[in-house]
Amino acid sequence: MTQLVNQYTPQKEGGLSDSPASDSTEFVDNFQRKFYYLRLSITDVCNFKCTYCLPDGYHPTGRKNSSFLDQSEIKRVVNAFADCGTTKVRLTGGEPSLRKDFTDIIASVAETKGINKVATTTNGYRMAKQVDDWKEAGLTHINVSVDSLDPKLFHQITGENKFHDVMNGIERAFEIGYQQVKVNVVLLKQLNGHSLPEFLHWIKTRPIQLRFIELMQTGEMDTLFQQQHQSGVSIRNHLIANGWLLKIKEANDGPAQVFVHPDYLGEIGLIMPYEKGFCETCNRLRVSATGKLHLCLFGDQGVELRDLLEQDQQEGALIERIQGALKTKSVSHFLQDGNTGMTPHLASIGG
Ligand code: SAM
Ligand code: SF4
Repeated sequence: MTQLVNQYTPQKEGGLSDSPASDSTEFVDNFQRKFYYLRLSITDVCNFKCTYCLPDGYHPTGRKNSSFLDQSEIKRVVNAFADCGTTKVRLTGGEPSLRKDFTDIIASVAETKGINKVATTTNGYRMAKQVDDWKEAGLTHINVSVDSLDPKLFHQITGENKFHDVMNGIERAFEIGYQQVKVNVVLLKQLNGHSLPEFLHWIKTRPIQLRFIELMQTGEMDTLFQQQHQSGVSIRNHLIANGWLLKIKEANDGPAQVFVHPDYLGEIGLIMPYEKGFCETCNRLRVSATGKLHLCLFGDQGVELRDLLEQDQQEGALIERIQGALKTKSVSHFLQDGNTGMTPHLASIGG
């Protein structure tokens, strides 16, 4: 049964131990955080121009799309993670559904022994047409980005007039049997910062987990962060004052704070990376579309894995390299000091 508390209880400070990682074939860091969740970017190409991500649209970096991991490389990386305890893989990007072999990739990840959750994060523009195939291939969880319920504002934020296509995609997902869809909303003070009532109305009768994500500063972002960053605290205060209850986290839950309300079918998740203790529950590792391991969204250039993805026989060396890198994972990001690491924008390594 879901456990609830009737007031917000801040997480304990200093909860991380600095004892050495276990030497079993699990991915564990020096702070005893276990990593069972892989976020795998399969392309950094995107067709949207979200103001906070790719405001000028996608610009190729001189590489051809063929330099993204191919299906056999994806299979090898996912096998190695699964053999070390990973049970959940999220396919992301860029826009993952732009890959012509997206459905085949879903199927290949879904059939990997040990993987029981295959998720994607998508801008949703192809969902209405393709979600049936994705489900058939084994996609178990969907996150769709919808920054506004007002089609004009949606267009303004994403650069694309695709609001209705995205909504049709969400409706189609429910029609074919998804029990819940997660919807990501990046909080932007002067754009959607006052839209909480509309979003709450929307999820009253829909099993949507609406996830408000605080804007994160990335390398290419200039004044936008100062202008648009809005903390999730005011939303949390509003929820608590209006009878929403915080779900107690279970062992494998990530950093989102999830609130529920007896009168609402939907839930609210808050992702507040600037709040103290955010990294304590980090449970994910990232591999970029070109095969680099990223220990943190806001870390360094990443650790090259691609040379070890050429043959199945290299799995031992691949696991060793990942475990070696994990020993260097920092206790937290340093975003609060304005240090965004090497990430130019989240499309580059998969948000
Ligand atoms: N294209 C897909 C999409 O938009 O859902 C997947 C990739 S996108 C990088 C993944 C998520 O990161 C999206 O929900 C997006 O809104 C979020 N995101 C992108 N840039 C962000 C930023 N600077 N701060 C917070 N969230 C961001
Ligand atoms: Fe594309 Fe997603 Fe970035 Fe928007 S947030 S530009 S949809 S990758």
